[in-house]
Order: sequence, then C-alpha cells, then structure tokens
Amino acid sequence: KDAWDQLSADYSGALYDTILTTKLGKVIGWAQKNALWPATFGLACCAIEMMAMANSRWDAARFGAEVFRASPRQADLMIVSGRVSQKMAPVLKRIYQQMPEPKWVIAMGACSSCGGIFNNYAIVQGVDRVVPVDVYVPGCPPGPEALIYGIIKLQEKIMNDAGTERAKQRVA
Ligand code: SF4
Repeated sequence: KDAWDQLSADYSGALYDTILTTKLGKVIGWAQKNALWPATFGLACCAIEMMAMANSRWDAARFGAEVFRASPRQADLMIVSGRVSQKMAPVLKRIYQQMPEPKWVIAMGACSSCGGIFNNYAIVQGVDRVVPVDVYVPGCPPGPEALIYGIIKLQEKIMNDAGTERAKQRVA
C-alpha cells in the first residue's frame, strides 16, 4: 500500500466511526431513552411514590417510561424504590442479572442511595454496593415529580453516551 491508500483507508475508517456509527448510535440512544421499561419491583414506602408516577396526574407516559414489566427479561430499567435488606440484596442482584443489556438503575430515595435512616446491620448502606447505579434521586420519599426528574437525567445520560464506546460496552 502506498501512502495515499493508507491515508484513504484511515480516512474511511474514521468516516465510518465518526459519522455512520455515531449517527446510528445516536438514533439507537434516542429510541432507548424514549422507551424505558421499568421492572415491576418495589421494596418499601418509596414504591408508593413510584407507582404514582405512572398515574394520570404525573403521566410518566410523556417520557416513555410507564410500561412496567412483570418480567425482568422485558425490562431495561430498575428503579430501586426503598430500603434494601441484606436478605433482599441477592434477589435484587438476580433480577438485575436477568435484565438484558443495555440496562440502567435508578436509586430512588435516601434508603436505596445510602441506607437512609436505617444505619444498621440489616440494611445495605447503598444499593450501589450490589448493582451499578446510574442516577440517584434524593428524598424520603422523593415525590413522583422528583422521580420523573431522575428519569429525565437518565435520558440525558443515555443520549450523551449514545454512539460512544461506553454505550457499546454496555451491550458487549
Ligand atoms: Fe421509606 Fe424514606 Fe426509605 Fe423511601 S427513603 S423507603 S420513604 S424510609
């Protein structure tokens, strides 16, 4: 190969990576962020606020995130809504592992984020010790509007990652 051939090979590779792959990745990211399907999984009092998010007053359907799935295999979002007991942690991890990639986790409320008021041996002091967390929503409990704000933040994160190596690693 002469220098020109090498240059064109490099250029078309770069063109493919920077334009085609990135643009396609952005389209996929856009579709994913607008169709988040949470697993039906409530742990404590925060779960009541999570359920309220899907009703007509707060209408999570506006963000494509109202389709709660009873099977983790059909879900790509885990909202950890409440305290995580040591006994529940392995179950939570199993459900997370059953969700297909790419998948995301929201820690909803003080308890799931850091143990909250339950600073004792029975409660996991932050669900990020069990599964990776993408967004933390503060409050005790956070209202539906705070959870929706967390979903909007997650959507921004999905869009920022779309088409990048980080997004590819999620499905690898
Ligand atoms: Fe209950 Fe507050 Fe803990 Fe949520 S953060 S599970 S409302 S005690």
